[in-house]
Amino acid sequence: MDFKQFIRVIPDFPKPGIRFKDITTLLKNGEAYRAAIEAMKQAVEDKRIDLVAGPEARGFVVGAPLALALGVGFVPIRKSGKLPGETVEASYDLEYGKDMLAMHKDAIRPGQRVLIADDLLATGGTISTTIKLVRQLGGEVVGAAFLIELGYLNGRDKLTDIDVFSLVTY
Ligand code: 5GP
Repeated sequence: MDFKQFIRVIPDFPKPGIRFKDITTLLKNGEAYRAAIEAMKQAVEDKRIDLVAGPEARGFVVGAPLALALGVGFVPIRKSGKLPGETVEASYDLEYGKDMLAMHKDAIRPGQRVLIADDLLATGGTISTTIKLVRQLGGEVVGAAFLIELGYLNGRDKLTDIDVFSLVTY
């Protein structure tokens, strides 16, 4: 399936010069959404995955159905202050300032094989932070899977020690 035809590109969002890849147009098409998750599943299913972890919010929309398709559990990674239990946290740089991501301390047992999933790989900052959190808990990151990769931002260069899969590249 040509998945690009379902992704809408919105110029100058969230600010001038950025061409935002809007996945809501793919999500609302049941056939395209299902085919996208199925293609991601097929790309990673030989990795003996124990858990899928995804950062809020679009990482949930990709990671949770992927976990279900693989028959494994899902671990939500959230902005700091949202999870009710004890957490580990890691900060990451935004264009202006910093943000924190958090994961429940008991979300992953040491040695569990974790796939990270998100909608889009841009600079790789978000995914590098999620990798740090999984590793802090002793999880083994076996790969990262994305619907979309912005190849021109070279996020993949930050992820040299894991397998990276993306369905569509711009
Ligand atoms: P990175 O940390 O790799 O620079 O940025 C990736 C994160 O930003 C992802 O969590 C993704 O949801 C969000 N993001 C950045 N640009 C876009 C875009 O054009 N479209 C969508 N859907 N998400 C984006």
